[in-house]
Amino acid sequence: MQYKPKKPPKPLFFENQTEPVAWACGTCGRVLPKDTVRTCCATKVCDCGVEYESHYTLCFECHCKKEAAKLQAKIDKAEKLETYDGPVYCENLDTYYPDFGTAWDDIRDGDIVWDDKATRDQELTFWACTIKKFNLDSGDIIIRACEGLSEECDVNDISDAGNAELQEILDGWVETYASHIETWYQDESRMLVIHPDYWKDYDEEWAKIREEDDAKQ
Ligand SMILES: [Zn+2]
Ligand SMILES: [Zn+2]
Repeated sequence: MQYKPKKPPKPLFFENQTEPVAWACGTCGRVLPKDTVRTCCATKVCDCGVEYESHYTLCFECHCKKEAAKLQAKIDKAEKLETYDGPVYCENLDTYYPDFGTAWDDIRDGDIVWDDKATRDQELTFWACTIKKFNLDSGDIIIRACEGLSEECDVNDISDAGNAELQEILDGWVETYASHIETWYQDESRMLVIHPDYWKDYDEEWAKIREEDDAKQ
């Protein structure tokens, strides 16, 4: 990417001196160091030759191509799961779902119409997720309880048995009150294979809807 100033920068001189002491942007007049003045109020020229204005280092088309290539590389590398029933992340819709069935129902009932059969299989990418559950750690709690006490007090003052007993109590509490709390993270090493039947059902359903709509008109 290169900068193309709309108007050339103007050199600024002290009286009776021939070397410029600073530079002003030819468009807005801001005084800037010589190496950055060319970037002020400038049009960007992408490596492909297209002029553009966004904050990216590439034009929109090259940016999209680069992102698509990055995604394709991740897809090529990922393990493809035929069966999986945990939470999923849909790359295209930037949304997490508790499982693929819920995701699919949501997509079918939503407003998205995937008309382009040739590309839509690549268009929808579902990643498997890793699950991080709510957890209380006895060691952490003891460390925090020792904070503010004299320096000699630390986690080693509690025996292993005491530590283990506290952990057991905490695990029971979590099981009763907080077992529903968890966070999902997309795991880009594992992706779901979308069975063609899903699209078959989807196509049939949409064909029926269109037929009904046509009949009404
Ligand atoms: Zn400027
Ligand atoms: Zn470009």
